[in-house]
Amino acid sequence: NRTGRVGLKITKGVLVGDTAVGKTSLVNRFCNDVFDRDYKATIGVDFEVEKFSVLSVPITLQIWDTAGQERFKCIAASYYRGAQIVIVVFDLTDEESLHHTVKWMEEACQSADSPVKFLVGTKKDLLSPAAYADIEQRAVKYSQRMEAEFWATSSKTGENIQDFFFRAVCLSFDAS
Ligand code: GDP
Ligand code: MG
Repeated sequence: NRTGRVGLKITKGVLVGDTAVGKTSLVNRFCNDVFDRDYKATIGVDFEVEKFSVLSVPITLQIWDTAGQERFKCIAASYYRGAQIVIVVFDLTDEESLHHTVKWMEEACQSADSPVKFLVGTKKDLLSPAAYADIEQRAVKYSQRMEAEFWATSSKTGENIQDFFFRAVCLSFDAS
């Protein structure tokens, strides 16, 4: 274009999953580089915007986080609309939350139009290597069935947070 810039890319990512699995903590670690171990139910905020560059392409990532509606399983279709990235989150220490990812992914994919899909396990810092290997096996099977990429993260230590979000953005641009 005339300014010689590669162009600004804007992408929308939505987070869903059971309450208290660590969705808001993921956003806080990625966008503000902080971790808060005191539980606070998310209130009010629709999305956070993070700007960065990938291979010198300026990126604006809108990350939508539920404001506690997931408790009541009533997330509006408008939340998902236009999302290029769907991130279904579960707690690696809570098997139930892994089972529930199937229904979260189905719901998201009804309203988002062919997004790139991720299954993200949180709180890896709480698991021994053996316990992690055990849950990882099952999580990978879930991710294959839902055609999502599996990532294990810790918002406490920061493990895989940057790498995950960068990967999500890159894949969404490949897909578009
Ligand atoms: P949300 O309801 O899915 O948004 O979950 P929150 O982000 O509010 O997190 C719920 C609780 O889990 C909080 O007490 C967090 O501090 C804790 N938590 C979230 N992520 C991690 C993590 O990676 N490691 C540990 N140890 N605790 C976490
Ligand atoms: Mg929250």
